Amino acid sequence: MSYQRAASMRPLGGYEIADHLCRMCNGRILTKTDPVNAKQTCRCSNCGFSAVGAVSRICWCGAKMPATGRNAGLRCTKNDNPTPEMPGEIVVRCEDDVGLDKPKQTGRYADETDDPEV
Ligand SMILES: [Zn+2]
Ligand SMILES: [Zn+2]
Repeated sequence: MSYQRAASMRPLGGYEIADHLCRMCNGRILTKTDPVNAKQTCRCSNCGFSAVGAVSRICWCGAKMPATGRNAGLRCTKNDNPTPEMPGEIVVRCEDDVGLDKPKQTGRYADETDDPEV
């Protein structure tokens, strides 16, 4: 039995840093794949919140509206523009226009939203 393999390769005990933030504390989420059964485990590096399966089980991507149980449309994304308010490498954005659980709504503000951003 050899448990000494590649100890220096994975400084986090087999976990890799994922581009997702913990839903409980906004800490960075780590993921690990079990080499035996290929199951993924995800765990918050900060508060220890963990789950087996997709990262979205504990990150904002899987956040649901408390009232409706629908996906809240939040997504963890790379922070292209770090600011004093949002200095993190990963930020949570609302992407509720992607139509996760419902058809995309169009025409509500047709007159003002068609301007392409430059
Ligand atoms: Zn956490
Ligand atoms: Zn996420």
